[in-house]
Amino acid sequence: MAAARIDGVALADGLKAWLAEEVRAIGAAGARAGLGTVLVGEDYAASAYERRLRRLAEAVGCRYAAEHLPADAEQADALAAVGKLNADPRISGILVLRPLPPQVSELAMYAILDPLKDVEAVHPANAGLLSLGRPRFVPSTPGSCFYLLDSYLEASGRDPGAFYQGRTAVFVGRSNNVGKPAMLLALARNLTAISCDEHTFAAGRLAEYTAQGDVLVVAAGVAGLISGDMVREGAIVIDVGINPVKDPGSGRVRLVGDVDAQSVAPKAEALSPVPGGVGPVTDAWLVHNTVLAARMAAGLDAPASPLPPRKPRLRP
Ligand code: NAD
Repeated sequence: MAAARIDGVALADGLKAWLAEEVRAIGAAGARAGLGTVLVGEDYAASAYERRLRRLAEAVGCRYAAEHLPADAEQADALAAVGKLNADPRISGILVLRPLPPQVSELAMYAILDPLKDVEAVHPANAGLLSLGRPRFVPSTPGSCFYLLDSYLEASGRDPGAFYQGRTAVFVGRSNNVGKPAMLLALARNLTAISCDEHTFAAGRLAEYTAQGDVLVVAAGVAGLISGDMVREGAIVIDVGINPVKDPGSGRVRLVGDVDAQSVAPKAEALSPVPGGVGPVTDAWLVHNTVLAARMAAGLDAPASPLPPRKPRLRP
């Protein structure tokens, strides 16, 4: 079996076209979408993410504001940067970029966010709503994983809701931003969910669990962690990892996932590539949440669900 490729770029293109329409529509009704980011330090991946988000937000007509602090910034200054965006009526959604330097508490940054602008659902109130299965915002990376899964299942003629019930999803990585909320989205879909982390690996039991996954979502940040022998025959595999590796021949840096595609592809039913899988949809999802927040802030009709449409309305 050669795994089908779950193309995140094509899905993101559809979302972007829909987002541009949505920004226009809420603008006509008097609402303005604006995304604000807070970056402390110069982390390479976080800076690249910030640049991508600015390009995307501006391309769909959404305002963008960046708060950038030096790596040795005091916690009080980092909190003040969030406070500034909280108070700015032109900003509807705020993202605190990770990693933060050790002197800045991630939880303190999350707790000070205006919950109505917390588009990554990290404020305790929004994280609580998510764990109750009633999310105000569905965080972007876990949301993107299920967008890829749902879209793939629909494209291959299956009803995602019916498919998930009684099947097993295995998550490798349990961060508060990716693995843990992805588990919550799985539970909301009546999947049987198994969560593994570095301790599972250290105990030598990772493969025992990954081999049980009808769906396998890998977000560990370890290049090539998952090989074909660890994957169930016919599994649908979502690779979230983004790892820069240096090509020994050319010396050039390229991005690879946590899944060893070469050995996994012959065994899996479908696999999301890196790059070009989860990443592009994650970016579009964050901007979608920002537009949703603007809609809510302006008191416009709430959409039926906090999710973007899976079959985006493209312009004729
Ligand atoms: P993190 O460092 O916060 O968490 C990593 C998790 O993986 C932890 O729970 C850790 O225990 C677990 N882990 C580490 N080594 C492991 C091992 N050998 N076996 C099993 N579990 C292990 O990272 P994160 O923010 O959750 O991101 C994870 C990866 O996903 C990174 O590569 C990151 O760049 C990528 N990422 C991609 C997107 C995207 O849109 N594509 C978004 C966010 C993060």
